[in-house]
Amino acid sequence: MEIVNDFNLKKQAEELGVSVWKTPSFLLIVMGFVIVAAMTATYFVSQIYDQPEVLIGAESLVVSIILIIGNSIIRQVEEMAKLNKMKTEFVSVASHQLRTPLSAIRWETELLLSKFSCGLDAKQCKGIETINTLATRMTRLVNDLLDVTRIDQGRLILKKEKVDMMKIVDETIANFLPLAKVKNLHIMVNKKNKKSTVVADKEKIKLVLENLLSNSIKYTPNRGKIEVSLAVVEGFLVFSIRDNGVGIPKEQQNHVFSKFFRSDNAVRYQTEGTGLGLYIAKNIVEQLGGKIWFQSIEEVGSVFSFSLPLV
Ligand code: ADP
Repeated sequence: MEIVNDFNLKKQAEELGVSVWKTPSFLLIVMGFVIVAAMTATYFVSQIYDQPEVLIGAESLVVSIILIIGNSIIRQVEEMAKLNKMKTEFVSVASHQLRTPLSAIRWETELLLSKFSCGLDAKQCKGIETINTLATRMTRLVNDLLDVTRIDQGRLILKKEKVDMMKIVDETIANFLPLAKVKNLHIMVNKKNKKSTVVADKEKIKLVLENLLSNSIKYTPNRGKIEVSLAVVEGFLVFSIRDNGVGIPKEQQNHVFSKFFRSDNAVRYQTEGTGLGLYIAKNIVEQLGGKIWFQSIEEVGSVFSFSLPLV
């Protein structure tokens, strides 16, 4: 199946943003044909002429053609790698530059609301609150983009500190309770085990929990049920979150941890989303020595889990 995908030239050209005849697979196929044709021609030439000079000349010609096509494939791949690097650097620089003005907008609006709100009427306060919410959302997006560029460049540095997961799970759920309340969602927590200390990066593991929790809230219709659990399995702490939300279509499930993936039903249900949260979560968990996985049935619900080695 993988091989069939490798030679789906149209798809590859779309993915790489080049014309079909410039895709490495197309050039490889051409090279294959040229080699077969050249070998056949060399065979017939050797039948007709028996002088070694003619054979050497024919073989040199074949080798030159193969080298030219091979060189062309290498140049295409180099060009794509360069463009990819430039794109990653651009996203990184742009995200860094956006962070400072966004922080300033957040600080200023918070200051306005806390210190000068008495001089503002309700409509003005609401307007400033909206600016603050939007700036916070944009900051989250910019941070996600920065994390993605760090992952892509192999520069995601994670701290290794002792983290009490029980505490972080409680804190994260508490932060999301107002959001869950708006949708009338019932969040249940099941954590009977005593051991819950892992070695992880506190901030980043909190980000993983936030991504999973916000997904469950986002993709579960009003009055739904979310169940969070912590368990110990063979030296690992396993966090799971189950919801009875929209689920993920079976045929799209193998893309779930890919960058920018959003399932068709999720896009219809919730327009807002970037498809970066799970990609980042997977990279963080795996870099910390754990695993992340899920089970999902469309229109029934999903369970997302990850494990981390216990101290
Ligand atoms: P985002 O939520 O911003 O789209 P994520 O990377 O967090 O990005 O998730 C990728 C996709 O995986 C989502 O768009 C959605 O299709 C699917 N998904 C993730 N969590 C759930 C869930 N709990 N229920 C249903 N679909 C989910």
